[in-house]
Amino acid sequence: MRKTLVAGNWKMYKTPTEAKAWFKELLLKIPTSLPAEAALMVPFPFLPAAQEVLLGTAVAYGAQDVSAHVEGAYTGETSVRMLADLTCKYTIVGHSERRSYHKESDALVAEKAKRLLEHGIIPILCVGEPLEVREAGNAVEYTLGQLQGSLEGVPLDDYDRLVVAYEPVWAIGTGKTATPEDAEAMHREIRAWFARRFDLAFANGVRILYGGSVKPDNAAALFAQPNVDGGLVGGASLQLESFLALLEAA
Ligand code: 13P
Repeated sequence: MRKTLVAGNWKMYKTPTEAKAWFKELLLKIPTSLPAEAALMVPFPFLPAAQEVLLGTAVAYGAQDVSAHVEGAYTGETSVRMLADLTCKYTIVGHSERRSYHKESDALVAEKAKRLLEHGIIPILCVGEPLEVREAGNAVEYTLGQLQGSLEGVPLDDYDRLVVAYEPVWAIGTGKTATPEDAEAMHREIRAWFARRFDLAFANGVRILYGGSVKPDNAAALFAQPNVDGGLVGGASLQLESFLALLEAA
């Protein structure tokens, strides 16, 4: 059975000092027997504190992006070796905010996913359509195209080496959530794509998260869908009480 994953994406909020205090408080309040896995995807400067406080606990952590280069003269970039040294379990690649504000292509996202896999870090690969594509009725074709392009040449030998996050762009930070039925329909398509590309065992094992205005009051209905294996959560992961409520909903 796939274990539900509730991953917070903190984007560019908080400071390292605030984050460290938050991590400690989370460990005091998190239930000891959690049915779901908890993870926090934080800005690079927070990772040493995450390693110090969270490593070896029930809360996994990782980064929100990585350079496609292993090392070199790439000012401002953060390498996968740095992330591996900081013991990241997961790292997000292909978030729509990077695809749109930083013009990241599917090919670049695929390179980043490869670097992570080469260093034992699990990519959380984000895909999802903008509003005009959904309104034109092409959401499935668009999202599966992104999936195909972002996994081109990525050697995947096992389903537990990858997490996919379906994040419809129109639902991110807008308060508009995909209905549980719409999310489930897309997740089913994504799983079927994996069955065609790999095999049924791979497709049934890979975790597919939903992202886009997941809140404590809509999480349970989303996570209850058979093909929704948890969430990648922005805004509602920033407050401790709401992050804990999301874990309870899983
Ligand atoms: P919100 O939960 O704030 O809509 O953000 C979703 C997201 O982008 C997670 O990666």
